[in-house]
Amino acid sequence: MIVCRTLSEFDEARQRLTGRVGFVPTMGAIHRGHLSLIQTSWRQNDHTVASIFVNPTQFNDPNDFERYPRDEKTDLVMLEAEGVEIVFLPTPQLLYPDGYATYVVVEGLTDVLEGAHRPGHFRGVATVVTKLLNIVQPDATYLGQKDAQQVAVIKRITQDLHMRTKIVACPTIRESDGLALSSRNALLNPDERIAARVLYKALNHAESIYDDGERDPNTLREALHTILSKEPLAQTEYASVADFTSLQELDAPSEDPILMSLAVKIGTTRLIDNFILISP
Ligand code: AMP
Repeated sequence: MIVCRTLSEFDEARQRLTGRVGFVPTMGAIHRGHLSLIQTSWRQNDHTVASIFVNPTQFNDPNDFERYPRDEKTDLVMLEAEGVEIVFLPTPQLLYPDGYATYVVVEGLTDVLEGAHRPGHFRGVATVVTKLLNIVQPDATYLGQKDAQQVAVIKRITQDLHMRTKIVACPTIRESDGLALSSRNALLNPDERIAARVLYKALNHAESIYDDGERDPNTLREALHTILSKEPLAQTEYASVADFTSLQELDAPSEDPILMSLAVKIGTTRLIDNFILISP
């Protein structure tokens, strides 16, 4: 595996790849969720490139940025074991040198959900992903459905800016008790780790009601809140039942795909998760 920390190192390694290139951008603290994206890339491409960059511009809270788990050594061992051929590890100074002034803003889609609760977050995500896609020039880019709004925003960017990469959304990988894998799970203490099950429990409960025929979005939202409110360590930021395509909150029953999503603080750690509801 070639570890590239500068643009010239990356360009040299990238030029040697022939055939289809799949790309997996990450913020490190690699877990099985990231590895599943790499495995999907391997099934669909001749080469797989990954990046690790904890992007300062997408953290609206400086404490969150400081606290974000970082473990470069272990990450590199895990990526190499998965067969990644090139890993790009830029520094903040490389991507945002003095005088840096260009940002990518996606309108509409970023006004709601994570965008509404984390001001500036998607401006940072959109900017860094656009930069990484320009640098890496992948044929396909692999993203996790756990960050559903991020997938929608990045699809929008690639379409609007005529970028050639195909965006592939991959299913959420979970622990055996349902908790979605996340680098942030490492920040939970043992009690919080148990409490964190409540996100999956709430989504599961609301899904079962939907499967039994309930279509009133308010009832589905109430079902989410009912379960979440039973967990004393959980503080709900939002429990959303929205149209999957527009991400707008539903106020009436819909037979179109629905994104049911949560952002919940467990202690001081903010977790997100979602289910997609598809009418049979
Ligand atoms: P991150 O390092 O958290 O920025 O995540 C990098 C990529 O991995 C993003 O596309 C995430 O959506 C994806 N990802 C994170 N957690 C999971 C998971 N549990 N299952 C599948 N993909 C994930």
